[in-house]
Amino acid sequence: MPTPTKGALNLSGEALTPGAQRSWWLREALAAEPATACPPLDKDVNADVVIVGGGFTGLWTAYFLTESDPNLGIVVLEQDICGGGPSGRNGGFASGWWDELDGLVALYGAEAAVRACRAISSSITSIGDFCEAHGIDAWFKKAGYVFAATAAEHLEVCEQMLELARDVGAANELRPLTAEEVRGRCDSAAFRGGAFMRDGASVQPALLVRGLRRVLLERRVTIHEGTKATRVEPGPPAVAITTRGAVRARHAVIAVNAWAMGWPGFRRRLIAWSSYMVLTAPAPDLLEKIHWTGGEIVSDLRTSIRYFRTTRDGRIAFGGGGGRAGTVIGNSFTRDARAVAESAEGFRRMFEGFAEVPIVDAWGGPIDVSPTHLPAFGNLVPHVHYALGYTGNGVAPSHLAGRVLADLVTGADSDAVRLPMVNAASRLFPPQPFRALGAAIVRRAIIAKDTAEEQGRNPNRLVTAIARLPRRLGYLLGP
Ligand SMILES: Cc1cc2nc3c(=O)[nH]c(=O)nc-3n(C[C@H](O)[C@H](O)[C@H](O)COP(=O)(O)OP(=O)(O)OC[C@H]3O[C@@H](n4cnc5c(N)ncnc54)[C@H](O)[C@@H]3O)c2cc1C
Repeated sequence: MPTPTKGALNLSGEALTPGAQRSWWLREALAAEPATACPPLDKDVNADVVIVGGGFTGLWTAYFLTESDPNLGIVVLEQDICGGGPSGRNGGFASGWWDELDGLVALYGAEAAVRACRAISSSITSIGDFCEAHGIDAWFKKAGYVFAATAAEHLEVCEQMLELARDVGAANELRPLTAEEVRGRCDSAAFRGGAFMRDGASVQPALLVRGLRRVLLERRVTIHEGTKATRVEPGPPAVAITTRGAVRARHAVIAVNAWAMGWPGFRRRLIAWSSYMVLTAPAPDLLEKIHWTGGEIVSDLRTSIRYFRTTRDGRIAFGGGGGRAGTVIGNSFTRDARAVAESAEGFRRMFEGFAEVPIVDAWGGPIDVSPTHLPAFGNLVPHVHYALGYTGNGVAPSHLAGRVLADLVTGADSDAVRLPMVNAASRLFPPQPFRALGAAIVRRAIIAKDTAEEQGRNPNRLVTAIARLPRRLGYLLGP
């Protein structure tokens, strides 16, 4: 079978356009759940808390609020359906932060960095416990995270990661793997060595986000899907305005991920990169052949990271490696055939033994990239709260964000609100047009540099200089 990477994918002879349908995860989840309508808001209402955004961040916040006070009046506004955004489309890596220590230590110091990592570890475990407690089979499996170096330069990156973990006394969280050890868990000729992080679980993300929605409805949280907030007036009281009604509340939570780039107060705090995934047909026998039966989540160590995992029915879901940057969420984040081709190409190169296995699905979405590569949680004004900037690692951190945001709303003096990324000084990207232009050029330079290194070539010097520009300008992004 020819590699189906040009333009639309070929699905049993039919064209499959990325973005023309919901992600495979979400289609599976919707097919398995009974229809429960959450009709659009069509009048003015009052509430204790209004949450804008029905992804993990918004829904975990609502969940933790119901835990602290079951009588709170909570309204969630979601422009699409809950999980229609990246929460229902991501790779399902619920992963730790031990590989983020460089940024965490630089920003907050070693003690606070370790505290933040431990909080994420606890979120990973809690996601599993939540699924168990509420009968949500979201395929939660904690089998660890394998970092696989695919270029000589990545071995150095890996060594730095391991050294930092040792420096902060967390050598058992991140340990080295030889090439044979990596290939013993997931065999590809491309893998030259790497590391293993025990904080790594996989979920079927759409089953998790839709399960969360179900629990919230049982707890009488009001959810309006198909309801776009056009703005939030800070008040007090805060008012979330939509075209057909407004929600007036004591507190508002803004949980709109990359869409926050369009909101006052957040414009210079984010840029968006697209990430695309491809999904193969089931091939469980081939997975056995490459020893990848343990359920580990795996990524390479490119800056434009490629990440891959298996599914219960023996498929590979493979993401990243390409995409574009932007400052407005448009079609390039969901319908970019070139980005799909880049993901598919990465998959074909890495898993040569799967050459005959068709790619049957593809989807993409925006990643909310922050200047620090880490999310920020906090108050915009005392009663308007936000979480954003996950930079492609939001499945576990959004659980922690929900905990933090709920405590910010209730005023609880908790360990969560004392985490270093809560109300930390914000870093800003440059104003327009430099932000959009810079993001687009740097993104392509990073991909070009990654590709050259992987192919054993010396990257062009100009390309390298551009890829390194963000770090030279003080951002914790890029090589
Ligand atoms: C292809 C892809 C793969 C990824 N893989 C991983 C991974 O494996 N592991 C990981 O940790 N992270 C991954 N991520 C990132 C992860 O999905 C996000 O960080 C996480 O889902 C963020 O959750 P959220 O609730 O903040 O955002 P979202 O899920 O985007 O939720 C925000 C919601 O707000 C809604 N919204 C926006 N504007 C408005 C408005 N004005 N009014 C009402 N509603 C609005 C949107 O429709 C959306 O549903 C991936 C992302 C993508 C795109």
